[in-house]
Amino acid sequence: MILLNPGPVNVSERVRKALQRPDICHRESEFAELIQGIRQKLLKAFVPGAESDYTAVVLTGSGTAAVEAALLSSLPTGKRILVLNNGVYGERISAMVGVHRLGVAEFKLDWGARPDPEKLRLALRQHPEVHAVAMVHHETTTGLINPVREIAEVVDSQNRVFVLDSVSGLAGDPLDIAGAHIYMVAGTAGKCIQGFPGASFVLVRKGFMERMKSYPKHSWYLHLPHYYEDEERGSIPFTPAVQVYYAFDEALNELLEEGVANRIQRLKKAATLIRKRMSAMGLKPVLPSEFQSNSLTSYYLPSGLTYEMLHDHLKQRGYVIYAGQGQLEPKIFRVANMGALTEQDLEGFLAAFQEVLDTVVVRP
Ligand SMILES: *Cc1c(COP(=O)(O)O)cnc(C)c1O
Repeated sequence: MILLNPGPVNVSERVRKALQRPDICHRESEFAELIQGIRQKLLKAFVPGAESDYTAVVLTGSGTAAVEAALLSSLPTGKRILVLNNGVYGERISAMVGVHRLGVAEFKLDWGARPDPEKLRLALRQHPEVHAVAMVHHETTTGLINPVREIAEVVDSQNRVFVLDSVSGLAGDPLDIAGAHIYMVAGTAGKCIQGFPGASFVLVRKGFMERMKSYPKHSWYLHLPHYYEDEERGSIPFTPAVQVYYAFDEALNELLEEGVANRIQRLKKAATLIRKRMSAMGLKPVLPSEFQSNSLTSYYLPSGLTYEMLHDHLKQRGYVIYAGQGQLEPKIFRVANMGALTEQDLEGFLAAFQEVLDTVVVRP
């Protein structure tokens, strides 16, 4: 099955084979080697040249676990988080902070709009109780890239902490974490890194990790300083998904061999092919092209087709697309191009799509 959903993704045979390495105990030196390798490779891939300023914390759980760990670990007593919310994942950040009864304030925007850095600057000046600002890099709801650099500049100039959910952004769209002084970035093995779901991570500025050690613990499983202290010694607090980590390590080897910039270009090329051909088939994208990410495109459903019909006919032909979420659910569908996909896979999908349009659409 060819997966055109935003994770889990198709992986290479090389990554799949890594699952079969020997059984090991996570309290042994073999695991210490594995986790230190993963952490170093993450830094090499995502903060090149600034590896000594950042640390990578790896945990077992999907991307949401990494986002929640970053948020819950980032707050001293009595302080609040301001969430820039323009999609399902921004919404989820607000909900997480709310569920733990940590103070949340929110800039809620339309799902096709981007946050205004100057409005943020004013809000931060007026609200000294806001300690951290949280935003999503690639809002997978629509495929929108948020203005990370501009927002990071404001957060940094106002001496606040920027927490970025780049679960669907890392290795797909450019992100200069060190250059923009971003304190925390959450990611996952199972999207553009092309590993399996189940392993996720947070990249943290080292100085901030030291500060977080004195912050109150809001979660037992998701407290980052706890992971950091153990991982610095080559260990981990809780039983990790060892086999998934093997595959994660191999996916990082593949990523570093390909080069992050080349990976990003490959995804961009795939998205461009999909967009050109879908446009020729008469499909309308939800976002203007300057807002679109390299790894996902959302389209309005063509008239005469429900999502279920489109999905089922494509699935019969071996391709899985993705539904819209929330208010966009009845109106759109999404096509992701993350994962180890070849040009042949994409051509096959586009031909199948054309065939469905030609044979299934009920024309008035
Ligand atoms: C996929 C995704 C997540 C986390 O999803 P999981 O299902 O927990 O892996 C978080 N944020 C964004 C922007 C995502 O695309």
